[in-house]
Amino acid sequence: MSNENIVWKYFYPSYLKITNIHSSPSLIHIQMVSETKSAVCPTCGKRSKKVHSTHLRNAQDLPVLDHGVVLNILAKRYFCSNIDCTETVFMEQYDQFMGRYSRYTNRCKDFITRLALATDAETASKILKSLHIKASGDSLLRYVRSMGDALYLPRVTGIGVDDWAYRKRHTYGTVIVDLATHQPLELLESRDGKAFKTWLQEHPEITLVARDRASAYASAVDEVLPDAIQIADRFHISKNLLDALKLSLSSYLPSKIRLFDLQPVTENSSIENPSKKNRT
Ligand SMILES: [Zn+2]
Repeated sequence: MSNENIVWKYFYPSYLKITNIHSSPSLIHIQMVSETKSAVCPTCGKRSKKVHSTHLRNAQDLPVLDHGVVLNILAKRYFCSNIDCTETVFMEQYDQFMGRYSRYTNRCKDFITRLALATDAETASKILKSLHIKASGDSLLRYVRSMGDALYLPRVTGIGVDDWAYRKRHTYGTVIVDLATHQPLELLESRDGKAFKTWLQEHPEITLVARDRASAYASAVDEVLPDAIQIADRFHISKNLLDALKLSLSSYLPSKIRLFDLQPVTENSSIENPSKKNRT
């Protein structure tokens, strides 16, 4: 996000004045007051100087020295002076610093979203908790989705597809990754193949699909992109090989194999065939 139009004082916009800082064992609270003299109505775009009231906004920022950072901002509401506007009162915005209703500063939201993207929502939530940043797995999923929409995605022709657990043994979705970069491209809410089919219809450029052995994904590719090459991914090739080996060996080996007790060999002991000695 560009910050070229914002004037910074230390780590914060100059229009937010720090009035107090206090800390607890795990958190630093930074109290701020808005010193804006005017604001632009988000509905009609007209600037207003008439303050209506103030209200408290809380937001989490990046941690410092093993402490979470919480901003308590005394923000302003302004009257909209445009008689044709549907809004009479609006909240001032800190667009380049914090989203309209966001509970995080932009830099904090960027960090937690990238962490979720690099790991997974639940793991990221646990790591963030250790950094004193509160973010549920569900919230992180929403941020990853919204970030995914905004990201510039290079043209991808080879994808990997597999199921993944929102909640293990309960709810599963589908993850699609770029085979070249190994970066996730999309998270789909189900693994029954329907959502994957819709995704494929929007991406006719796909020519290569690495997938598991489930028929749902195979059918979707067959139906939507019949010319695309389908291959089993490395994990499932190993699984196929092991299954084939097991089947092959079972046809040669007897169903029961007895293991004999091994007797320690001493100087005076004669070597006997243990199969004769111990067979019962
Ligand atoms: Zn307005």
